[in-house]
Amino acid sequence: MNVVLLGPPGAGKGTQAKLLGKARSLVQLSTGDMLRAAVASGSGLGRKAGDVMERGELVPDELVIGLIAERMDQDGKASGFILDGFPRTIAQAEALDRLLAGRGKRLDAVVEMRVDDEALVKRITGRFACADCGEGYHDPFKMPKVPGVCDRCGGTEFVRRRDDTEEVVRARLMAYHTQTEPLIGYYGPQGKLRTVDGMADIDTVQEEIVEALDGKG
Ligand code: AMP
Repeated sequence: MNVVLLGPPGAGKGTQAKLLGKARSLVQLSTGDMLRAAVASGSGLGRKAGDVMERGELVPDELVIGLIAERMDQDGKASGFILDGFPRTIAQAEALDRLLAGRGKRLDAVVEMRVDDEALVKRITGRFACADCGEGYHDPFKMPKVPGVCDRCGGTEFVRRRDDTEEVVRARLMAYHTQTEPLIGYYGPQGKLRTVDGMADIDTVQEEIVEALDGKG
């Protein structure tokens, strides 16, 4: 089964994709994670993408389509993919259809996670993570039990994403509404679109996603 998780930045796509990936043995493909890794490695692609990401704008279609194609080939034996953060434009959605068809696969379902903009700004500007193990935290919703010490690994260094400031979050939301939301009109008529309430807690959203997918397997 191949699934796209669609939703604004901070809707919880990454968290839900990891849970669903484990539950259904799907390979998670996150273009945001791939791009951050490229930026950290200092590769040519990372240098091209870094400035765009810091402004909260979208990286050119051909770069992310290339990344996804490469990863699909590396994970060619996967029983299915869960795509999080891709596609983000109609051109990317069309490319995804072609990439899957070229590998004898197809997109089974698109799950849209709905969250209102002001809640997203609060969610995103509060989030931070352990620099050692990546455990995610949130100020004020999920602080480490011992202040300044990671619950999972005991690390004492924490990091925030450079694009999680309020100004950049608002730019990312604008990009979502103008460039990504039209995908709802692309997938709706194909009968692939399911919508869940992304405002609920993590477990409830996961249950809703699983219910939305059942019957689409
Ligand atoms: P994310 O982690 O999905 O919120 O992505 C972080 C940033 O990476 C976005 O704000 C974009 O600048 C860039 N990005 C991630 N995925 C895509 C994509 N599919 N198309 C264009 N830009 C992307």
